[in-house]
Amino acid sequence: MGPPRQTRAARVRRGIRVYSDPLQHACIAAAVVAPLVPTSGRRVLLAAVVPALVIDVDHAVAARSVRVRDTTSLATRPRSHSLVTALGTGVAVAAAAGPAHGWAAFCGLASHLLHDAGDRAAPTPLLWPFAPARQVGRRRQAAGTAALALLSVVVSRAMAGPSRGPSAAGADGGGA
Ligand SMILES: [Zn+2]
Repeated sequence: MGPPRQTRAARVRRGIRVYSDPLQHACIAAAVVAPLVPTSGRRVLLAAVVPALVIDVDHAVAARSVRVRDTTSLATRPRSHSLVTALGTGVAVAAAAGPAHGWAAFCGLASHLLHDAGDRAAPTPLLWPFAPARQVGRRRQAAGTAALALLSVVVSRAMAGPSRGPSAAGADGGGA
């Protein structure tokens, strides 16, 4: 007997997931760094979205193929799908373009990794090399993504007024 045949509906569902994934990654990456735009400009959106899209090139490298059927059928997502990659990229971008852009690049990648780890496909090596690849589920993905957005608010305030003391954090930030 050959391999089980996918039903047409399953193929279509998979196709929709595969081709809408980059759009979802881009939207989530932009959303988590949106709080930075008022203080750091719109380019932080690019700093988040570009790495969030580019990282999936590693699937093609790991599968040694650019065919979607090969790049999405790996047993585990590539090891570059790790927070270590997000941290390293963030640090490098911060050194080159400043802390806001570095934070944006980290956030873009971290939101991508969380989104990947939230589905039921191949395990994501989020904490590689410190822990084996595993999925975390949509609920923890949502919590992690919300945390990134909240931290972006904190980073944005820090960018707005490095001279303001921590006591100003409780104020409503009405002063520009
Ligand atoms: Zn991915």
